Amino acid sequence: MRTLLAWSCALLGAVAMPACGNPSPATPDAGAPAVASSASAAPLALPSVDAGSYAPTTAEVALAQRLAGSIVVGGHAMDYERELADGIGPRLTGSEAHRRAAAWAADAFRKAGIEHVAIEPFTIPATWERRPVVARIVAPVTEELHAIASAWGIPTSAEGLRGDVVKINDASPAAIAKMGDDQLRGKIALIDRGTHDSVKDKLDYLVALDALKPRGVIALLSAGTRENDVPGAGSVAHEHTMTASFSALRIGKEDAARIERLLEKGSVTVSFVNESPLHGPAEVPNVVAEIRGRELPDEWVLLGAHLDSWDLATGAQDNGSGSAEVLEAARAIAALGAPPRRSIRFALWGGEEEGLLGSVAYAAAHAAEMDHAAYVLNTDHGTGAPKGWELDRQGAVDPMHVLAGALLAGLGGDQIESKMTCSTDHCSFMLLGVPTANLLVDESKYDDIHHTPGDTLEKVSRASLAQAAAIAAVTAYAIADAPARLAPRLDHATVGANLKKAELLDSLASGGYWKR
Ligand SMILES: [Zn+2]
Repeated sequence: MRTLLAWSCALLGAVAMPACGNPSPATPDAGAPAVASSASAAPLALPSVDAGSYAPTTAEVALAQRLAGSIVVGGHAMDYERELADGIGPRLTGSEAHRRAAAWAADAFRKAGIEHVAIEPFTIPATWERRPVVARIVAPVTEELHAIASAWGIPTSAEGLRGDVVKINDASPAAIAKMGDDQLRGKIALIDRGTHDSVKDKLDYLVALDALKPRGVIALLSAGTRENDVPGAGSVAHEHTMTASFSALRIGKEDAARIERLLEKGSVTVSFVNESPLHGPAEVPNVVAEIRGRELPDEWVLLGAHLDSWDLATGAQDNGSGSAEVLEAARAIAALGAPPRRSIRFALWGGEEEGLLGSVAYAAAHAAEMDHAAYVLNTDHGTGAPKGWELDRQGAVDPMHVLAGALLAGLGGDQIESKMTCSTDHCSFMLLGVPTANLLVDESKYDDIHHTPGDTLEKVSRASLAQAAAIAAVTAYAIADAPARLAPRLDHATVGANLKKAELLDSLASGGYWKR
């Protein structure tokens, strides 16, 4: 819905919105009442509690037992997971399947007895479809490459591209500027993709591509990070325009190492065909359900996960599992028939994999009520055994320790860590100063699975999924029911200082996520 997008973009003001399409320079005072700009840094009217004064009551403990019990014994988390991953399948942002998944999720919220359910669409400037890629080394040897198209890259002609490979060892703009024209012009650049698929990695990578483009590089190979020549899916586009500088492939880790060894002896020529087409703009759904609070209905805690997935598999872990946990938490909380003090919103975002697009659009569209956001909880790390929560900020002793000790220990969820990251949808709210937390799980097997063809249902642990849903439900309820807020909203300057300490500031500013 373009009108919503335009309104969102205008509202966002201080934090430029990647999905806005070439946002004009942000103006913090241009009708941006509640974003985390210096203009809106007034202290909140409602007090937050310190750890010493917060303790769940006996009644709240009993309610948490009922809630967790109804999820762990006879709950529906695995039913949601199966219907979504196996029933609907891959859910690429902008695809028909993703829209079908959103309609299914809205229906599931309604069937759980939640009245306030809405699909809040946002618009992306372009959609993309994957086609098989043919890629090979043609000299000094002839060898097929394990390659997939980088999403939203520029398609080649049917004849494809051919060129000598140059390895970019240092992808900083300063290092690229020092490279000679003969090293770059007409070449296919081979570049490391970084070890994780965080927004920071992606933005640093885009900065490198922007430096390579004017130097006459014709295409790009991104080296995989997973063993056994399994390239993972990922986008090569700038978030705000959904356009890329290059036709680009992701190739296997071992393939990339092989090319590098050949380069030590001389030139290496690669050819490839990638006709994956780009299409026009499309509406992408966010699904939002709300259980209204009994005393402070305008204040809200949000529990979210992204519903979109990459297209190589059914996205069972990333993020079918998080989506199933949110749906199950909503079902179980609604079934209690006892709404907490504040409202709880349950959100299933679109466009996370392309750059947190759905949560950024939502935070922008709801900027005027961001002072009412008491907490944002996010789940997006697969179904390893859950451990607790990772908070975006470091306090002395956070009330979340008290909450976790009292309510989550029996679920294995009482570990509280603090780390400021921007790898998933909590970031869209963290940047606006709202307190956020990500579900902590054992991620030892996650990186091998997510974004690959192996992200399928049999990797999902039924027990861990139910446990995670119970931890999410109990936490969301307890924060929503607490007598005062568990943490304050931070002002723009404080968030900026924290981003700097976490070494995220420059990357997020370069990508338009953060306005200094
Ligand atoms: Zn994810």
